[in-house]
Amino acid sequence: MSKAETIYLKDYKAPQFTIKTCDLVFELYEEHTQVTNLMNIERVDESAKDLVLDSIELELLEIYLDDEKLSEDRYVIEEEHLRVLNVADAFKLIIINKIYPQLNSELEGLYKSGKIFCTQNEPEGFRRITPYIDRPDVMAIFKTTLVANRERYPVLLSNGNKESNFKLDDGRHGATWFDPHPKPSYLFALVAGDLGVVQDKFVTKSGKYVRLYIYTDRGNESKCKHAMKSLKDAMKWDEEVYGREYDLDLYNIVAVDSFNMGAMENKGLNIFNSAYVLADEDTATDANFMGIQSVIAHEYFHNWTGNRITCRDWFQLTLKEGLTVFRDQCFSADLNSKEVQRIEDVDALRERQFVEDASPTAHPIQPDSYMAINNFYTATVYEKGAEVIRMLHTLLGEQKYRKAMDLYFDAFDGQAVRTDDFLWAMGKAGGIDLEQFKRWYHQSGTPKLQVDERFEDKKYTLVLTQKVPKSVEGSEQKPYFFPLKMALLDDNGQEIEARTLIVTQEREEFVFRAEKKPTLSINRDFSAPIIVEQSHNDYAFLMKHDTNSYVRYESAQSFGLQCIENMMKGKEIDEEFVSAFGHILEEDKLDLSFKSLLMELPSVSAIMQRQEIVDFDSIYAAKEKLQKHLALTFKDKLFSIYSKNHTPDSKELDSLSIGKRAIKNRALKLLSALESDEAVAVANEQYNSSVTMTDRIAALDVLENTSPEFSTVALGHFYKKYNKDTLVMNKYFSILAASHREGTLDRVMALQNDPAYNELVPNLVRSLIGVFARNYKHFHAKDGYGYKFVADRIIDIDKINPQMASGLAGAFKIYKKMNRTNKKLMKTELERILLEPSLSKNVYEIVSKIVKG
Ligand SMILES: [Zn+2]
Repeated sequence: MSKAETIYLKDYKAPQFTIKTCDLVFELYEEHTQVTNLMNIERVDESAKDLVLDSIELELLEIYLDDEKLSEDRYVIEEEHLRVLNVADAFKLIIINKIYPQLNSELEGLYKSGKIFCTQNEPEGFRRITPYIDRPDVMAIFKTTLVANRERYPVLLSNGNKESNFKLDDGRHGATWFDPHPKPSYLFALVAGDLGVVQDKFVTKSGKYVRLYIYTDRGNESKCKHAMKSLKDAMKWDEEVYGREYDLDLYNIVAVDSFNMGAMENKGLNIFNSAYVLADEDTATDANFMGIQSVIAHEYFHNWTGNRITCRDWFQLTLKEGLTVFRDQCFSADLNSKEVQRIEDVDALRERQFVEDASPTAHPIQPDSYMAINNFYTATVYEKGAEVIRMLHTLLGEQKYRKAMDLYFDAFDGQAVRTDDFLWAMGKAGGIDLEQFKRWYHQSGTPKLQVDERFEDKKYTLVLTQKVPKSVEGSEQKPYFFPLKMALLDDNGQEIEARTLIVTQEREEFVFRAEKKPTLSINRDFSAPIIVEQSHNDYAFLMKHDTNSYVRYESAQSFGLQCIENMMKGKEIDEEFVSAFGHILEEDKLDLSFKSLLMELPSVSAIMQRQEIVDFDSIYAAKEKLQKHLALTFKDKLFSIYSKNHTPDSKELDSLSIGKRAIKNRALKLLSALESDEAVAVANEQYNSSVTMTDRIAALDVLENTSPEFSTVALGHFYKKYNKDTLVMNKYFSILAASHREGTLDRVMALQNDPAYNELVPNLVRSLIGVFARNYKHFHAKDGYGYKFVADRIIDIDKINPQMASGLAGAFKIYKKMNRTNKKLMKTELERILLEPSLSKNVYEIVSKIVKG
């Protein structure tokens, strides 16, 4: 195993040296790349003698100090460092080294994705390119020259603005880029390839003209329209809502197929997983279009929250990520439906982050230690981080929040700072003491809020008790400070009173006047990321009447959960829930996307999270029984919703068309529980006649889970049509890997040999292996083969791409809560992984925490 030492925030020390300028020359060849790195370096810490540069797997050729070639006794090559002995206060250092991007399967540093050279340097990739002080609080001005074969790599890109082009006699050419903004090395990027391009422009509010380019494999240019529109929408939104303009002459986006994450915000040169750029109606679903809009905006917003103001160290990651996710969520809410956006964001948080928070890998949004920083690009740092910013926004209100953001930009532009600096700006401009609020940054686990009520003498008393879980290490944690939006409703659902309570104590009472006992609507808009525990029976009322759309949805979910849990305990189906569900179906004035969310039964993950000991077999049995009962009871109504909203020729992306597709596909999915010929015929007809990928995927999902014969034909047709399109093949593999039919594991194993599958492409691994590992039915099969298969994949993929492998290991996070049989089977596999002799620290950190927990 490689070095797995723990790094602590408390050990942070300011850098001893700083790099003022970095002038790089990349000579890109087919076998290797030669890097020449000229740095102007200055001492900051008087006591430091040697210059220590981060350097991993680099082949050093020559080193020059102030133009004098260094003899070997002047420097030491250590395992992950290059140490230059006894340097002056200020000096020029030139390092020439060789790297092998073609052999780089970890996809960190400089690598090749297909025929394209590209980079991924966050968090610590740059040290795999050239020796450097590779930490975010060292900010330099970069100048980059790329030299490569002209025919193979006509496009040469780096950060900033382009300075010059040149031609060489040997068939090579070059380009020099200059970025005037000092930046940390993790924001460095380069791209070289034979790429198609789509161009546009944007004029900022102060009249500055910005050229916009999206580069992609040739032939895909027509699929960049939505990404380009999203970029312009994001630029405009950031000017209007945050007063922030773009600061370079051009903005480049490049789409590549092999990428470990969603996208990367490198200054002036964003590099994207092609899944978040390329889309048209024939190949992308409505969800893909929404995803592109949000990720394009996210990376653009980083230009201010991340690039201009960056993190002092990686423990501060949520400083840029939580804030930027909050910004992209608000952007999507403004451009689409606010209510649907909020529900979907909360759902995503609960599906992933709540599970993480309840597992042995739980950590605060600002962790205080790590082994592999790559493991901390988590739902906690991102999504819970965004909820924490949202609470600040609620506490301050729109105007003061904007004032505080302006202060943050004024005070820290061009610097590498901490979350404490951000909170200082929020507190100062907001006029609020945030000392207690800071606990959200340093404590882990999801707090629960027990809600009790009393009504006497026209006095309504709300009793709130915070139940804060212990940390993973077992230490006590303290009560939180948070805004709690609530309302009291009368018998018609009208608001008697609506307020934002500020909760700060472990136990608190709030008293209201009311003529009659009101109905409580609590944690409206999910104003705090907590679990509300309420022993009431108002779900049916709130589902029908609440004026807050989030609470309506939440009540439908809670009611469904209660019904399923009772069924798991052997009780009959609750007919009150069935009748409330029927009431929703009859409501004709609701937004269709919202109505489709109200019709959604609780996910298996949501049910699982409430179990003390998890057994997926009994969860599925109860949920499927309820689904079938609803489909039988409301068969005619569901078919009528289907036919009313099914317009197979429509491929519009307006909210009405998206809503129609959402609700009719929800109705179809419910009807599929009947396993009737009628439902199968409708799905089959939908597959054959629809023109959108949304409709085809929904139909395929139903066919795959209900009718092997029809599924084989339809999936065969699908494969034939799209097997050359990797992004569509991701969907194909996902449908098969998520299948509930018997024999899924065998089919998944066989698909690994499919010519369209490639273990080196993370998207494909995620859609086949990753989706299977989240197929609770087959992954947790009682014969243990699901666990064994995924453990084998983790071990193999760890040798290619440790980051990818540790992501897959996350599927075992629910180990602690599993029933005895499954737990034993899981343990065998987890221990087998840990016995691997050359396990990466990425996988070691995750798996060892799970086993110990
Ligand atoms: Zn980000």
